[in-house]
Amino acid sequence: MQVNVVCPVCSQQHFFALLPGYGTLNCPRKNKAFDVLYAKTRAKNQHVNRQKSGVKVYQIRLLLPNRTEQLVQFQSKAQHFELRAGDSTIVAYYKGKPKVVQNCTIHQYMMAYDGCFIATAVYGSYGADEVLILRKFRDQQLAPYSLGRFLIGFYYVVSPPIAELIETFPFAKQPAKYVLDKIVRFIKP
Ligand SMILES: [Zn+2]
Repeated sequence: MQVNVVCPVCSQQHFFALLPGYGTLNCPRKNKAFDVLYAKTRAKNQHVNRQKSGVKVYQIRLLLPNRTEQLVQFQSKAQHFELRAGDSTIVAYYKGKPKVVQNCTIHQYMMAYDGCFIATAVYGSYGADEVLILRKFRDQQLAPYSLGRFLIGFYYVVSPPIAELIETFPFAKQPAKYVLDKIVRFIKP
């Protein structure tokens, strides 16, 4: 079936012939491979609407062709994303992380919040220079190595509660910023 896929590599839309289940596609613009899961949604719920950052955590249960279920955890700033039982859904992964969730039934999609949670809470914006340096370090120096990927995974588990704490108790921002500033100065190219 020909499906319009929102590409997790370049964020444009490309047409692909897709079969239900897992598949690997190639972004024709950047010539990079990415993975997709094309399946029917069984159920969706969302929770943890973190007050200031507005990041929502979506949990989506997908029904694979072999009748097993796959749970996808997805963080996004999208506040109203509709996904009902039976909707055709595409989860697009890039470098192992889910980047786009697409509802093909009603042609709606949402992008992942690529959270450097603590850095964003400390520096106030995901686009801050310090956050860009940290993101670049993560993607170029950590992501290619298995120890680096382990550290990233660990960071994604521990950092949302810490970021929440920083947002709730602003006095924690100064010590966190002190530590992050040191790291940024150390890794700055
Ligand atoms: Zn693309």
